[in-house]
Amino acid sequence: MNIILIGAQGSGKGTQAQLLAERLGLAPCASGELLREEIANGTELGRAAKDYYDRGDLVPDDLVVGMILARVRDLDGAVGIILDGFPRTIPQARMLDEQLASLQQRIDAVIYLAVPREQLLDRLSHRYICRQNGHVWNTKTRPPALPGICDYDGSELYQRSDDAAEKVAHRLDIFFGETIHLLDYYDRQGKLFQVDGTASPEEVNARAVTRLMALNGAAISRTQEAASQ
Ligand code: AMP
Repeated sequence: MNIILIGAQGSGKGTQAQLLAERLGLAPCASGELLREEIANGTELGRAAKDYYDRGDLVPDDLVVGMILARVRDLDGAVGIILDGFPRTIPQARMLDEQLASLQQRIDAVIYLAVPREQLLDRLSHRYICRQNGHVWNTKTRPPALPGICDYDGSELYQRSDDAAEKVAHRLDIFFGETIHLLDYYDRQGKLFQVDGTASPEEVNARAVTRLMALNGAAISRTQEAASQ
């Protein structure tokens, strides 16, 4: 089973992708995370993407699409995938559909995590990430036990360069101006469902799993079996 998570920055998309990946035995594939690795490692792709990333702009399709499709091909249908942050444009969605079709695969479900813009701005300005594993904290709503330190792995917490207040507003403009059109694209394919992202992470996860089970419980059981082997 292959799933896409769509949500604005700060909607809890990364957290839900982690939870769903663990619970359903799916391979997580987060485009922002992959780009941060490329940038940190100073690869050719990372150097080409860095300025766009730092401005909070979308990285051009040709750079991102190649990176994600290589990952999809590597997994080769062995396990289902949960895509987080990709696609973000209609051309990206089309290229993904084509690539999956050539591998005799498809997207089974698309979950939209709906959160109002004012709440997103507030969440993002308090968001901190741990250096070691990318665990997400919020100094207002979900603070770590020790300020500046991740509870899980003890690594330092930092604020992402693109979470600075002026860049956050720009990134949300891109989401609500461009990425939001993906909802129509997947709704027309009959794959989209919406989950209220303002509830607690556990509650959002429970609702998403219930909807996925109703949609395709048999595929989920197969995915869980494949992942446990
Ligand atoms: P995220 O961690 O998903 O918020 O992504 C962080 C940044 O990475 C975005 O603001 C973009 O600059 C870049 N990025 C991630 N995914 C994509 C994508 N699918 N298309 C273009 N740029 C992307």
